[in-house]
Amino acid sequence: MDNILVADIMTREPIVIKPSLNLLECAKTMVRKRVGSLPIINKKKLVGFISQKDILWALIKKSKKDLSTIKAIDISQKKIATVKPSATIEEAIKKMKKLKFERFPVINEGELVGMITIKDILNFNPEFYPELEEFALIREESEKLKRVKKAKDRSLIRDGICEECGNQDVLQKIDGLFICESCKNSK
Ligand SMILES: [Zn+2]
Repeated sequence: MDNILVADIMTREPIVIKPSLNLLECAKTMVRKRVGSLPIINKKKLVGFISQKDILWALIKKSKKDLSTIKAIDISQKKIATVKPSATIEEAIKKMKKLKFERFPVINEGELVGMITIKDILNFNPEFYPELEEFALIREESEKLKRVKKAKDRSLIRDGICEECGNQDVLQKIDGLFICESCKNSK
């Protein structure tokens, strides 16, 4: 697990935009391309980063302005947190938790080479769920997983004839067999 790098699971060739794009165009691009954020690129260099949250913020704080009159670059953060493709997943998680960011542009030698999100990490390995539980989005997913697991556990218990000793009892599925409590304990 230690050898898995950001480069291995990142999204390559992410959807990017030019600095001149306005917020209305950004919102449309996000919906059309189904992405939650857009790196802003000028001559292959990352110059900004805009998320759905940034657009919502602009919509609320700058309500008197038309979104089409605001450029993406104008509301983008100037200092953008990034990770290197050579970083390990653990390093990326640490940084996400520290900065409370759900995604990072991946930068190699000054150029954008990909994007990595907590979803990429969890799709790759769901065992990271506990580590990322502090993110609201993940908490929801994690609750769902727990409910599914509980339902599965329930289906592994039933009344019937023990497949080991033949007694009628409450049975649990162990190693593919429905067996009673005492047979389970004598295993
Ligand atoms: Zn039994």
